[in-house]
Amino acid sequence: MISFALIIPAAGSGSRSGRNIPKQYVELAGMPVLAHTLRAFAGLENCTEMIVAIDEGWRTTAERCALGLKDVRFIEGGAERQHSIARALADLSGAPDLVLVHDAARPCVSRGLIDRVMAAAERYGAAIPAMPLNETVKRVSAEGIILETIPRAELRAAQTPQAFRRELLVAAYRYADEHGIMATDDASLAEAYGAPVHVVEGEPDNIKITLPGDFKRAERKIAEIGRQPHDK
Ligand code: C5P
Repeated sequence: MISFALIIPAAGSGSRSGRNIPKQYVELAGMPVLAHTLRAFAGLENCTEMIVAIDEGWRTTAERCALGLKDVRFIEGGAERQHSIARALADLSGAPDLVLVHDAARPCVSRGLIDRVMAAAERYGAAIPAMPLNETVKRVSAEGIILETIPRAELRAAQTPQAFRRELLVAAYRYADEHGIMATDDASLAEAYGAPVHVVEGEPDNIKITLPGDFKRAERKIAEIGRQPHDK
């Protein structure tokens, strides 16, 4: 069975969420978003470890999110998401076959999606879930004038978990560092490195909590999944 390590970037301040604490620590159905996210991956026997990159000021709260879970480690994040993940990659304790990166703010990911992404990464080296777009997409100037309408048939909105063979992700991060490449997801770095990244169908409920209304939506989905709060 292939092994994997999970990296969760959770060191951001989530300033668009409208809350006065980072969105990953906001309570949803009795426990913080991060606690839900960790539980979405808990108990997978081929998981060697989970590394969560955090802001040290939130360590106590973050550690509480992992109560009752095995092999979760917290490290200090970096200035940007990419730096947080680079630190976690440098801190891997074993040599897992795959590395998965999953945003702390996506607590509703299903086991089915995790399995599909991993299977594709095992086969192709790199894989991400993504969703077709329903809206017509425009490129707009700083002045608010449409520059271009982008044919949407080829467009996808990227989700996480994004999965990579460990050596590939390490090489892509090294390449990005050497070439000053910054990106908002890990697939972008694999693409820049020249690796083909396979896309599997994402899930509409695998939302990334970003705006105030997203908390309610995630809470409804979590109630549907029926995850149990841990003892506080
Ligand atoms: O800001 P955004 O929602 O795009 O951040 C994506 C993820 O990266 C979040 O889970 C956030 O906590 C994390 N992050 C991080 N280190 C930073 C900035 C963001 O781990 N310096």
